[in-house]
Amino acid sequence: MFRCPRCDVVAEPTVRPARVVVEARVKTYPERRYRLRGDRKDRIDPGGVGTETVREVSLCAGCAGAERGT
Ligand SMILES: [Zn+2]
Repeated sequence: MFRCPRCDVVAEPTVRPARVVVEARVKTYPERRYRLRGDRKDRIDPGGVGTETVREVSLCAGCAGAERGT
């Protein structure tokens, strides 16, 4: 059971909140070299760019849809 912070409605005990990301940042992952058992030379994970969640909120289904739509 949870209370939606946006519309202040208390959800039924069986309803799970929808988590909506409200703030994310760009994250750069560096190249990694590693070996698995039996490897004779390094494998290379090239890394890359992705996003990292900074803050998310738990909303009811209705508010989550509205939040994602905007
Ligand atoms: Zn709501």
